[in-house]
Amino acid sequence: MTDLTADAQAPAQPGRNPAAPGGARTVASAVPQALVARLAAGVTAAGEPRTVDTVAPLTGERLATLPQSTPADVELAYELARRAQRNWAALPVRRRAAVLLRFHDLLLKRQDEVLDLIQAETGKARLHAFEEVLGAALAARHYGRAAQKYLRDRRRGGAVPVLTHTVEARRPKGVVGQISPWNYPLELSVGDALPAFVAGNAVVNKPDTQTALTALWARELLIEAGLPADLWQIVIGDGPVIGPAVVEHADYVSFTGSTRTGREVAQRAAARLVGASLELGGKNALLVLADADLDKAAEGAVRACFSSAGQLCISVERLFVHRSVADEFLARFAERTRALRLGGGLAYGADMGSLVSERQLEVVSGHVEEAVKAGATVLAGGRARPDLGPLFFEPTILDGVTPGMAVCAEETFGPVVSVYRFDTEDEAVAAANSTSYGLNSSVWTKDGRRGRAVAARLRTGTVNVNEAYAAAYGSVASPMGGMGDSGLGRRHGSEGILRYTEAQTIASQRLLPIGPSLGMDDARFAALFTTGLRAMKAFRLK
Ligand code: NAD
Repeated sequence: MTDLTADAQAPAQPGRNPAAPGGARTVASAVPQALVARLAAGVTAAGEPRTVDTVAPLTGERLATLPQSTPADVELAYELARRAQRNWAALPVRRRAAVLLRFHDLLLKRQDEVLDLIQAETGKARLHAFEEVLGAALAARHYGRAAQKYLRDRRRGGAVPVLTHTVEARRPKGVVGQISPWNYPLELSVGDALPAFVAGNAVVNKPDTQTALTALWARELLIEAGLPADLWQIVIGDGPVIGPAVVEHADYVSFTGSTRTGREVAQRAAARLVGASLELGGKNALLVLADADLDKAAEGAVRACFSSAGQLCISVERLFVHRSVADEFLARFAERTRALRLGGGLAYGADMGSLVSERQLEVVSGHVEEAVKAGATVLAGGRARPDLGPLFFEPTILDGVTPGMAVCAEETFGPVVSVYRFDTEDEAVAAANSTSYGLNSSVWTKDGRRGRAVAARLRTGTVNVNEAYAAAYGSVASPMGGMGDSGLGRRHGSEGILRYTEAQTIASQRLLPIGPSLGMDDARFAALFTTGLRAMKAFRLK
């Protein structure tokens, strides 16, 4: 086991990112096996006693042995969830919303427990793990407070004024199949499930195996807040093995992950005629306009590119800077990037943690090595840091990246950003939009109006002006999601909850039917209705 405290004493080597103090706590002491066993009991896995091991990315040591669910277990999970959902849907919205508000308070109070788990499972710095607590708490409070407004019955204009009384109602879909990735295990498991629950649904969730403990912990906490235990089923297993079963039984599918898997999930959902929201990958751009505050922009670019070691769907991998300020901006950005303290301590203090897996390390190293071989220049970072832990990679800035290089257009999903210079805003907007993805972007300028005008021309689901990503993501009353290859549908806001409902129109007719009556023949009925339509238009009744 790597001694996390050793990093603090290691002398910083020239040109390398310094190591953050580690602190005395180890992964093994923060996530004891008794806790793992308690959480593992929450997995729906009654079938064959197969298990899988997960590894702590920070140190490479074994973290947990978890049961594996089979497709038959997934079927059982749906049965249990379906039974629980009937009673849950019958409760008034305010009773369901109260569970979310209690969860909000419990989460803030017990955050240290889950910060340890997130760090142990993902390897990210504690500050970045805290972003997940923030995101889940914001979603809990928003939907806890606003659900009644989103879900209430709404009077609509009827077919015939006065004679038709029409109401639009919202009904829960039933059981939502939710498939989540490893990179934001709290936010993308419970954060996305909360609006489904408050709308009256049950959820069968397949988190990534690597980060299942965090989802299981959130489930325990939500049960403590008052959620009936069977309402949230968690199944664990390989995506290609049990993922299709999760889609097969769902009344609606909520998927977050790569564009490649998202397409497959969408096809399965389409074949069953069930709806799906897809939150997928990105190749996000940050624009530094000529009038930007360069210190703030450099600081913001660091957050945009290196939070969660770049393993964040909305993080920035392409940076466009106006030629007139490029040298000055890049000097400040590179200086801040080189100063970031890397570390794996289970405490605040590190500016960036490690990557999550060998696979991520291979992709990140591969993109950087290929670009450098083909002529790109490294302005900061560029190397793995095995001296800190098996999966650390330095925050990296590349200059001189050209279209033939993988790093130019493919999602790296790591701490690597390429910089490009532009002369006009039109050129910058066209370059930022020259990707099939459309998730997030960021614009830096001292002129807010100009920033919003540029934002309106960018084809991404969220745009942040003078912030990296948290301003738009944290605006939970407003939709968040992707255009193009970045997805379908939205989380947050009205779309984030109404996707988990079916609209139902109930129209009651009174006094007269909509058809010939009172001895009227068909021709008289048609003439009367024609006159009626003209009158309604004239009086703006319809
Ligand atoms: P992934 O697509 O490999 O896996 C995502 C989930 O799908 C996992 O739980 C996995 O087990 C499961 N899965 C795999 N194959 C499946 C199949 N055939 N059927 C059903 N489920 C299957 O993605 P990943 O590598 O875990 O996550 C990283 C990707 O997620 C990146 O592209 C990132 O941009 C994206 N992401 C997007 C958002 C967003 O909000 N847009 C948020 C986080 C991550």
